[in-house]
Amino acid sequence: MATCPRCKGFLSDNHKCPRRRLFVASEIVLAGVAGGFAALLIVALIDPQGRLTNVDGSAVIIGALSGIGLDRYFRG
Ligand SMILES: [Zn+2]
Repeated sequence: MATCPRCKGFLSDNHKCPRRRLFVASEIVLAGVAGGFAALLIVALIDPQGRLTNVDGSAVIIGALSGIGLDRYFRG
């Protein structure tokens, strides 16, 4: 039996690729983590001495959300 090139599932006559929800979820998480790290990097560049410690948390959240938002926007 042939396998589907997209989902590696068995290719039957009425085959439909399952929605790879786990893949989508992990992509969102990765985008969020990447966005959070990017925000921390920006905070570190703006404030090398770490005086704005209260900014870190909100910067990570904003970065994570914008990372997820950008990922969703570009991937439709
Ligand atoms: Zn398939």
